[in-house]
Amino acid sequence: MIPFLSLKDITARYADEIHEAVRRVVDSGWYLQGEENARFEQHYAEYVGTKHCVGCANGLDALIWIYRAYVELGMMKPGDEVIVPANTYIASVLAITENGLKAVLVEPNPETLELDDTLVEDAITERTRSVLLVHLYGRCAYTEKVGELCRKYHLHLVEDNAQAHGCMYGNKRTGSIGEAAGHSFYPGKNLGALGDGGAVTTDNEALADTIRTLANYGSQKKYVFKYCGRNSRLDEIQAAVLDVKLRHLDEDNRLRQQVAAYYYNHITNPLIKLPVRLPDANNVYHLFPILCERRDELQQYLKGRGVQTLIHYPIPPHMQECYAGVWQGLQLPITERLARQELSLPISPFLSSKWMEKVVVDVNYFMASPSQLGLR
Ligand SMILES: *Cc1c(COP(=O)(O)O)cnc(C)c1O
Repeated sequence: MIPFLSLKDITARYADEIHEAVRRVVDSGWYLQGEENARFEQHYAEYVGTKHCVGCANGLDALIWIYRAYVELGMMKPGDEVIVPANTYIASVLAITENGLKAVLVEPNPETLELDDTLVEDAITERTRSVLLVHLYGRCAYTEKVGELCRKYHLHLVEDNAQAHGCMYGNKRTGSIGEAAGHSFYPGKNLGALGDGGAVTTDNEALADTIRTLANYGSQKKYVFKYCGRNSRLDEIQAAVLDVKLRHLDEDNRLRQQVAAYYYNHITNPLIKLPVRLPDANNVYHLFPILCERRDELQQYLKGRGVQTLIHYPIPPHMQECYAGVWQGLQLPITERLARQELSLPISPFLSSKWMEKVVVDVNYFMASPSQLGLR
């Protein structure tokens, strides 16, 4: 079986360095809010290209803290609107609604699968305060047009960079384009911990300070509480592991790009549509999405041939039970079609050429006629 993702193999590539880092923390006797966090935060801020990085418990919290900080700083009020792509992972939307803000769902461009910037202006109202741009599947979703609209309407541009660590826009990294960005270090992400973890990057000192306080019970000084915060910190062990893996992130992303290039060059099945391709630096291929009208049959077929695939995501946020009645009557035909057609092929820094060749052969054989296969 070709697994969708083998975390064991990914970790094994850096096992010595990771064991060393974990051992250092275990032996230190210091497990929270110590040197490992400080070091990783500094290295990750330098890597992303922002003044500040604040570690926290996970990627969802990172996004929640950004909007909570805007509210605490008086820059947004409950009921304000945030524009977000409709086809994102639910965490992006939860971060908005958790703070009493209104998520305005906007359709993606069906060719790129990223937020359709031509639909953003029409979604802006008097209450719009922010755009939450999701670099979905590892691909940079920022465009000049999005930037111009944010400037024109004074919207806070926030990035959900959970899937795009290391991705570039020109000479900037995603995570440094907007005012603030949330990052997830969930194990399966391009920069993944051995458990949960997350961070916010920003150049804005007030935001960074407020987020650091909120994520530490709302406290800056021991036993003095400025906000009703929560406990949402990054463990020292995870920070130490992340600091090791950060050193290898660019190399890992290059390997992902090689797998993606192979798929783009060799998948020829006319039943399968690939997203329009960008120059490589703009996509770090957290996932490799393909589109197929007979997606469920394709998934079963691949499974039968020993190729594991996943769907990202089968039910869009506006159709989830937890949001029943929230966007009453809202129809999002592109998002809903993508949910029916999307299938993610195995991709990782650890996919051997033998495996990716097999994936391509199997995908190309799906429903292929003898003539397409070059047979008589
Ligand atoms: C993974 C992910 C998150 C949330 O990260 P967690 O660390 O799992 O909480 C947020 N947004 C997107 C787009 C994600 O893929």
